[in-house]
Amino acid sequence: MIKKLISEKEINTRIKELSNELYTEYGNEEVVFICTLKGAVFFACELLKKYKGDARLEFLRVSSYSGDKSSGKVELNLSISEKNIKDKHVIILEDIVDTGHTLKFLKGYISDMKPKSLKIVTLLDKKERREVDIEADYSCFEIEDLFVVGYGLDYDQKYRNLPYIGVVK
Ligand code: 5GP
Repeated sequence: MIKKLISEKEINTRIKELSNELYTEYGNEEVVFICTLKGAVFFACELLKKYKGDARLEFLRVSSYSGDKSSGKVELNLSISEKNIKDKHVIILEDIVDTGHTLKFLKGYISDMKPKSLKIVTLLDKKERREVDIEADYSCFEIEDLFVVGYGLDYDQKYRNLPYIGVVK
């Protein structure tokens, strides 16, 4: 059974707000949004549909979880071409920041390609779980230490298609 934590309406309202905040920051300058697969895909679609500025979309794929446990070891499964990043404003879109290992790895990987600027935007943030010193620049919702699913997030590849965020009971 899944217990609802954040409704679809709340998520979409917050994403709309965030897209406006980002537009205020970047104006008409081009921004490369990097969606981290697979978890951030619903978030990226919703945010980009609402974003009024000049946006490009790229994808990266990393893995560190198996079931509901983090292996702690981050692997890159789909890379990105440096020419799409160098000298550009870049925003990494994450589904959730937990221990912070994935974000630290991603930030290092993208920074090495010398973007003009780099910011991190996450749908969810589990701040109390952090093991490395890293923070997102923007987060939609801060949540407590719960394993959540839905809105792109899975449990062994299931539940991604739930339109809300919930906790498996
Ligand atoms: P970190 O490296 O920060 O520990 O983990 C980040 C990744 O772990 C996220 O991108 C996500 O794929 C996965 N993850 C962390 N917490 C959760 C959770 O509560 N639910 C799900 N479905 N995935 C999570």
